[in-house]
Amino acid sequence: MSKMDALSLSYEDWVREMEALGEKRFRADQVCGWFYRRHVFEFQLMSDLSLELRNRLDGAFRVGLPKMLGMRASGRDGTKKFLFDFDGSSVESVAIWHPGRITACVSTQVGCPLGCPFCATGQSGFERNMTVGEMVGQFLAMEARLGEIKNLVFMGMGEPMLNYHNLIGAIRNLNHPKMRGLGIRHITVSTSGIIPGILNLAREGLGVRLAVSLHAPNDELRDQLVPINAQYPLKELKRALMEYQEITGDRITIEYSLFDQVNDSVPMARQLGEYLKGLSAFVNLIPGSCVGDQRFRPSPPFRVRAFGDLLTAMGYPVAMRQSKGSDVGGACGQLRRQVSPGIQEASPQGGQRGGEQAPKAPGPAGDSKPDRGPNKGGRRQASASKGEGGKASGGDSGGSRRGGHKKPAAGGRSAPEGNRPRGEGPGKRDRSGPGPAGRPRGPRGNGPRGKRPGGAGRNKGR
Ligand code: SF4
Repeated sequence: MSKMDALSLSYEDWVREMEALGEKRFRADQVCGWFYRRHVFEFQLMSDLSLELRNRLDGAFRVGLPKMLGMRASGRDGTKKFLFDFDGSSVESVAIWHPGRITACVSTQVGCPLGCPFCATGQSGFERNMTVGEMVGQFLAMEARLGEIKNLVFMGMGEPMLNYHNLIGAIRNLNHPKMRGLGIRHITVSTSGIIPGILNLAREGLGVRLAVSLHAPNDELRDQLVPINAQYPLKELKRALMEYQEITGDRITIEYSLFDQVNDSVPMARQLGEYLKGLSAFVNLIPGSCVGDQRFRPSPPFRVRAFGDLLTAMGYPVAMRQSKGSDVGGACGQLRRQVSPGIQEASPQGGQRGGEQAPKAPGPAGDSKPDRGPNKGGRRQASASKGEGGKASGGDSGGSRRGGHKKPAAGGRSAPEGNRPRGEGPGKRDRSGPGPAGRPRGPRGNGPRGKRPGGAGRNKGR
């Protein structure tokens, strides 16, 4: 009989499994605490369980933590790109650095079936959907190595809404107070515009943030840049986004990658502004990333500025961002499952220092020293990375990361400042995160949310 993947199980599943083994339900809390708070992934190391129970768990479950094949660290902004192996399927994940916090960008599919021409993932074809445990595993593997991760964006490889059921399972596991307890407002789902997924997410009542990768203001151009537009054209997408806001009352982040002379003219900015009328939207503008196709070169700064200024003049909150991790192929649209084995850190000039071998799987908390980012010795940056953030009017939301259809929010590809608990500065500890080893801490105010009363009334229609 094949073993069940422990990280794919929900908290309720764990309670049922423990009761089926004749154990009390608090054993479920203990096991989840070891996985999600202490980053211990071997049952034999769970010292508060009896030897008999540890052996039985070993016999029934496998812990599908990915094997790290390689990691590249940007010398420019501290972003780290990981190549993970899941039983022969390789996938990239990215940890994006900001002063005082890390955002994990997690993949939802091995490859992507949507084939956007400017996206390396889209050009690599589609292999399969990822399981709940594989998505959770990316997050936990990065956190075990790097230390506490405060934000999560589903905008790595693949279209999350095409793997909806597993996406929701992963969100629930990482948000559940007995599991990781990541604040629900610290989680962003980014889509290229899959309408059924957008509406399902609204009705789910979770309270996650939504980002939509638009990249073009009219169907003619969007059909070329985001081919799924032929199935879900802009007019229908707008109707779905209006309904999403009616239900959730949440602002939506619009991701727009700017490619030189392709989608970055001032008339197109005006067209985008017209399209967004009536929606409460925050617009993230980011120069597209180089993926080797000469048709898609990043827009120069003056064109980005002109595009953004027009939208600002039309009354939209806009952030003009720098792409993070481009020197290690970890920027938007660059994920292609090609990190070389071992660990490499880019020099500030963009070269690579390599040769270090991938580390062993993390042991009990405290066994390994978290790699804290661009500053050596575990010290975090005291100030924002150069070039990060750019000009921003307003401050939002959803996150813009991948040059594909997805990007996190604020700070280029980071989750937005708005994701931080109100009144908390970047250096303060996020109380919703994991507590010290051995003393798991429950999250605050991170539970799933229902429909907000009068949600639609929060929209700032234009
Ligand atoms: S941009 Fe997103 S939807 Fe398009 S091919 Fe890349 S991963 Fe898929």
